[in-house]
Parts: sequence; structure tokens; C-alpha cells
Amino acid sequence: MNTLLLNDSKIEIEKAAQIIKNGGLVGMPTETVYGLGADALNGCAVAKIFKAKGRPMDNPLIVHISDISEIDRYKLVSSFPEKAKILAERFWPGPLTIIMPKSDRIPVEVSAGLDTVAIRCPSHPVARELIKKAETPIAAPSANLSGSPSPTTALHVMSDLSGRIDAVIDGGVCQVGLESTVITLATEKPRLLRPGGITLEQLQSAIGEVEVDDAVFHKLNENCKPSSPGMKYKHYSPKADVIIVKGNSYIDYVNKNADDKTAALCYTEDIPKLTVKTFDMGSKGDMSQQAHMLFEALRQIDKSTEIKTVYARCPDTDGVGMAVYNRLIRAAGFEVISLEDI
Ligand code: AMP
Ligand code: MG
Repeated sequence: MNTLLLNDSKIEIEKAAQIIKNGGLVGMPTETVYGLGADALNGCAVAKIFKAKGRPMDNPLIVHISDISEIDRYKLVSSFPEKAKILAERFWPGPLTIIMPKSDRIPVEVSAGLDTVAIRCPSHPVARELIKKAETPIAAPSANLSGSPSPTTALHVMSDLSGRIDAVIDGGVCQVGLESTVITLATEKPRLLRPGGITLEQLQSAIGEVEVDDAVFHKLNENCKPSSPGMKYKHYSPKADVIIVKGNSYIDYVNKNADDKTAALCYTEDIPKLTVKTFDMGSKGDMSQQAHMLFEALRQIDKSTEIKTVYARCPDTDGVGMAVYNRLIRAAGFEVISLEDI
């Protein structure tokens, strides 16, 4: 199939909406990463997403809406918990996905057989316009081949999925650059399943206690059942061996242990002090910038085939830093050197 690359004009978004209505697949920009969208109420259309991405069928999708009122209009949930309403009113439109008990209108392909559904209202104007024009909620995982990094430009989507999907709308570079925060309100206590652009601190300030799932920071034990199916799948990591180095003497450690096959994934401020090839992960203390830059840096590392080892700066884990750390530790296969322990 020939994949159309559309611009973000009204006419082209209208074309994309027609594709969604006809059961096709459209790559769409959101403020987190690009999503691969299909009509969320059409199981056959949703099934195509899994085929195009090579995504395991037991990994459920996020349903995107353009306004909170669409939860009732399309009857997406069997109950809308009070705390979910508070979060939706406070943080939507924005990078927060809320898991709630699903209604029977949600096709099994979307929920992957669970009795819950993940819902998000993105803030990107193109995504919202597309959902409105398609007159249906849009189910969308990240628009990459399973196993590659989530795409943050239309070009990334084209390079993974050209020929496998109907169209991509180019809406520029994604502002947040990491996937949405995921919180479940289908459990007794609210629980953070994936950190993202909306921080744990923000969630707590809105609804009080929020548990952090073990899988946010730690490798899942082979035998234990994950709270979210996506947690059990290998997350993207570059071909080079990425190792997180934790501690104040990061720069000395890297300079001492480096050879010509080594690189550093570091803060902007570290670059002049390092004697190896460097990849910029943003400014120290600016976690939003680090989130924005991380996936592009990982893609660049993969392009430098001569690099075998990458020593990554251990980011601070407060605020959006928790999301940066969560993605980086997966890219590193949970390999961390703590200099204080040496
Ligand atoms: P992606 O959009 O590719 O970033 O994937 C969406 C993430 O949300 C995956 O990790 C899913 O496992 C997770 N997810 C979606 N729906 C649910 C649900 N009903 N319960 C738990 N996790 C979910
Ligand atoms: Mg994904």
C-alpha cells in the first residue's frame, strides 16, 4: 500500500478522518509521541494496528478522545470513578492516560480481553481535530514497529511504517517526546503504571495517595503478572550496550574507562569535559528538555554503528525526570553502575 504523507491543513485532516471512518490506519501527531490511529469502536480496524506494528495482541491500546464529554457520548466506561473525573478535569487535554472499568462497547481488540479501558484526551490540536472529524474515539498505540523507539516526528513514522498504513499527518516534532503517564483507577488505590509528562507529584496533589507500581523502577520478575500488559514486553534499547552510571564522579569515570568504541549520553553541560563522543540528553535540571531529547538521542546512538558501549548519566528522578529514568533504565536493560558503591 502507498502511505500518504499529509500536512496538517483542515482539508488534509478531513482526508485522514475519512480514512479512519472507512476502517483505515492513520499516523497522527500528539503532544507525547506519534500515535497509530484507528476507529476505536471498530474491532476489525483496530486489529490492523497490531498487524502493521507487529504488536502482540495481548497488549491493549489507549483510546483517544477530543473532549471529556465523549466518555459519556460514546459510552466508553461502565463507571467513571470520582477520582478519574478529578484527574480528567485537572489534566485533560494533556499527557495523562486514565484506566477505568470498560463498557461493552469497547472491542476486545482494544482492551486485549481485560475488563478495563485506557482513555486519554490529547492536547495536540491536530489529534483533537482528527478525532472530532472522524466522529469516533481513536485507538492508538505509538506509531512505531514494535521494538523500535516511539516516534517523535512524522519522518520516524514513515521510516518504520511506510507501506504498512494508509496515511501519516505531519504535525511537527512532539512537544513532550515520551509516552503519556498511565494511572489506573480500576484498582482499590490509584496506581501509577507508567510515568510521563504529568508527574507523580501533580497526580498526588490532585487526588492524594497514588501508589507507584514496582515495574516503574524495577525489572519484572519472570513469574509475576504485570499490572499493565505492556510492562512485560522488552522496551526499546539501542544495539550498543547502554549502562547507567550513577554518582558525582560520572565524568571522571567515563574519561578513565573509555576507549574509541565508547560514547557518553550526558547532560549538555558535561559535553566540554568529556573526552569521548557524546550524545546530548538535555540540560541538567531541565527534565522536560531531557524527555524531549531522549528518544532522538537513542536513535542517533543506533546510527553510530562503531559504538559498542554507552555510559549514560543517571537522571534525577523527580518531576518528569521519573519518566526519563523509566525509559532510560529500560534502554539500559536495568544495568546501573553506582559509583558510591565502588
Ligand atoms: P503505547 O500506546 O504503545 O505506549 O501502549 C499503551 C500502554 O498502555 C501499554 O503499556 C499498555 O499495556 C497500557 N494499557 C493500555 N490499556 C490498558 C489497560 N486496560 N490496563 C492496563 N494497561 C493498559
Ligand atoms: Mg509503544
